[in-house]
This record gives sequence, structure tokens and C-alpha cells, in this order.
Amino acid sequence: MGILEGKKGLVLGLANDKSIAWGVAQACKREGAELGFNYLGEQLEKRVRPLAEKVDAKLIESLDVSDDAQLDAFFAKVKEQWGELDFMVHSIAFANKDALRNPFSHATRADFQLALDISAYSFIACAQRAAPLMKEGGSMLTMTYLGAERAVPGYGMMGVAKAALEASTRYLAQDLGTQGIRVNAISAGPIRTLAASAVGDFRKLMEKSARGSMLGRNVSQNEVGNTTAYLLSDMASGVSGEVHYVDAGFHVGAGDPGIE
Ligand code: NAP
Repeated sequence: MGILEGKKGLVLGLANDKSIAWGVAQACKREGAELGFNYLGEQLEKRVRPLAEKVDAKLIESLDVSDDAQLDAFFAKVKEQWGELDFMVHSIAFANKDALRNPFSHATRADFQLALDISAYSFIACAQRAAPLMKEGGSMLTMTYLGAERAVPGYGMMGVAKAALEASTRYLAQDLGTQGIRVNAISAGPIRTLAASAVGDFRKLMEKSARGSMLGRNVSQNEVGNTTAYLLSDMASGVSGEVHYVDAGFHVGAGDPGIE
């Protein structure tokens, strides 16, 4: 029997089979969970639906997390279909490419608001709608990166958004803990995905991360997925408010993730 047997959960942020969310979906499915997904607009439904169907998802609905009306409609559908929810994975981030490429000191108000809205506030917006469906308690998880706590060249604006996301994880854990809801984050090492391609000189970042890690390599979507399944499961019933690293041990070493 899998560690998520009998549990129903959302995996938000599946774009393609390179997404971290796909590693999460496969691990959660293997461990017995029933899954629901979102996609961002009709164009992307074509990519997401076939993948979601591979893991037998019945709930596959449109959701742009920057729109409150869409958030309300999406969670109303979750309630209608399942009534209750056991877990939610938030694997979503966005910043304008220019905001990542330009010097950080040139950040505009609009770019800052957009990055923080989609990459950090959206976790709170989803959590506040998911929590009432977690009647027996539950587990929420988001994806972050080391750039939240260290100045990683090329990650600028997103690092600030991830810092807000990690702080939000702790405050959501505090707020929702009394309802038996655990809230955690995984800080993943660099993985080649669509979102990652927006980060300046990602190839060098990956090389340096592999060299500086304890295992001498980078991590995979599947490794992040496996750790996510554990954190969502009752095996992690005493863990909340945590940023858990899945980075092959890079963050404890003296290696520099920077790009020369
Ligand atoms: P990804 O496959 O591109 O996933 C990012 C997802 O965010 C996509 O599904 C994207 O949808 C979605 N998204 C963006 N704006 C949205 C919006 N307004 N509403 C709904 N969804 C929206 O890349 P990923 O690397 O797996 O990223 C997943 C998470 O892991 C992100 O939070 C990222 O920062 C984090 N992370 C990534 C790495 C890495 O190295 N890859 C490392 C640590 C943490 P569309 O593609 O359909 O626009």
C-alpha cells in the first residue's frame, strides 16, 4: 500500500513532462493518491490534459492564479467533485524575463508586483481556498530555491519572490496548524525546465551546483517528487513550517552557486 493511498490532492503548475510538477504527479500517483490539475488557458490545456490523464486524473481545470474569480471557480469545482481535499502542491512561479536579465537595482514596480503576485501571493490565495476543504487536516507544499536566502546571480527578482514565499510558508503553517494542516516548502536544486530557462546562464548555474553538491551531481524531477510525496503523507505528520532541501546537499557546502 502506498503512503498516499486514499488521499485526494491537487498538483498546480504542470506545464510539460519536464516540470517539477510532473515528477510530483508521478510519485503521488505511484503512492496511491487521486490527483487534480490546473492548466493556464486553452493553449496549454493541450499539453497538460494528456499528461494528467496518464496519471488517471479526472479533475483537470483551467486556472490562472493571478485572477481571484478563477481561483474561486477552480476551488468550487474541486469542492463539487471531491467535497474534501487532503493535499495541495503549488509548483508555480513567473517573472518577466527582462526583470531577471536586467540589473536587480533597475527593478520596476510593475515587474516586482507581478513576480511577487504569481510566485508568492498565489500560494496564500490557493491555501486560503484549499484549507476549508481539508476537513480532516491536510498538507500543503510549495517549491522554492536557494536564491531566497543567498544572492544568486541571474535569479534577482525571483529570489525576492522566493524569500516572500518561504516566509509565507512559515506564517501559513502557524495560521493553519490549529486546523491540523501542515505547510512546507521544498528548496530544489536547479533542474532544466521551462521556467528555469528564464534564469540567466542556467547552464553554468547547473554545472556549479553539481560541482559544489555533496553528491557531485544535480537532482531530478523524480527526486523532488519522491520527497514531496513523503512530506504530503502521514509519514511526515510532525513536520510543518519547514524548508526542506532537495539539492544533493549543495546548500551545506562551501560551493558558490554564482555564475562568473
Ligand atoms: P515549469 O514546468 O515551467 O512550471 C512552472 C509552472 O508555473 C508552469 O506550469 C506555468 O504555467 C505555471 N504558471 C505560471 N504563471 C501562472 C499563472 N498565472 N497561473 C497558473 N500557473 C502559472 O517550471 P518548474 O521549474 O517545474 O517550476 C515549478 C516550481 O519549481 C516554480 O515555483 C519554480 O520556481 C520552482 N523551482 C524550480 C527550480 C528549477 O531549477 N527548475 C528549482 C527550484 C524551484 P505555463 O507554463 O502553462 O505558463
